[in-house]
Amino acid sequence: MLKKILAALLLCALLMASALAEPVTIVCSFYPIRIFAENVLKDVPEVELQTLAPAGTGCLHDFQLLPGDLRALDKAKCLIINGAGMESQFLPLLEKEMGSLPLINCSEHIDLIEEDEGPNPHIWLNALNARQMVLNMGAQLAALLPEHAEKISANTALYADRLAALHEELSEQLYDLPARDIVTFHEAYPYFAEEFHLNVVASVAVEPDEAPSPRMIAETVELIRGYDLCPLFSEPGVSSDALQVIARETSQPVYELSPITDGDGTAEDYENGMRKNAETLKQALGAGKSN
Ligand SMILES: [Zn+2]
Repeated sequence: MLKKILAALLLCALLMASALAEPVTIVCSFYPIRIFAENVLKDVPEVELQTLAPAGTGCLHDFQLLPGDLRALDKAKCLIINGAGMESQFLPLLEKEMGSLPLINCSEHIDLIEEDEGPNPHIWLNALNARQMVLNMGAQLAALLPEHAEKISANTALYADRLAALHEELSEQLYDLPARDIVTFHEAYPYFAEEFHLNVVASVAVEPDEAPSPRMIAETVELIRGYDLCPLFSEPGVSSDALQVIARETSQPVYELSPITDGDGTAEDYENGMRKNAETLKQALGAGKSN
């Protein structure tokens, strides 16, 4: 009898130990969410972060879930999403396949910019929005992992403060630009423009892999002709013939802005990406009128 009790106790202890050692998996929908989560969950033990969208995906406009993604999500504690429609093409499937998976939606309490087809989803490209996204994420992760709530709350507060400081730093840098009109390659920058009081005269494409029509190119050229300086902004890894045509027709310079949907994966990468974008804008708009 005693032997049986001891064996049962041993089994219990083993099960508990294995349960303790098993890390909790938290899945992020795409790159910027992952960077935010890296900061919020910094040094929180037994948490493993995963990202649904593989490197190089960019935005999630065309992203579809594969069976392997569903299997990974089945074991996850939660999925953290950008929200504002960025994941809308796969959320219905997710809801159907695993309705009980907790979702953390980072877009709550953010003023969305409404467009013809719904809200513009590129909310993270604005440091104050990013701060709110991190606060949303931190509060919900702390509730989901109560044993680590204190650490998560402290991390969240620290990172939120860094993002507020980033907003101050970049606002100061971009405060007295001599020109504020830009043309972007994809419709990713209205929140960025809102934060730094820029005027997006036109976006050449809605999605990065969409080829604009000749008519749209002609209309954009006409629009830009009214401006002395209206630089064009491409994106890393993108070669846009349309943008080159517009640049040639209007003699406007071409620079690169990053939507920060890829990078080196470090916890500082969002801040570095925003700083680099601000630096590019200063070069493009601060150099006075184009020759
Ligand atoms: Zn996009």
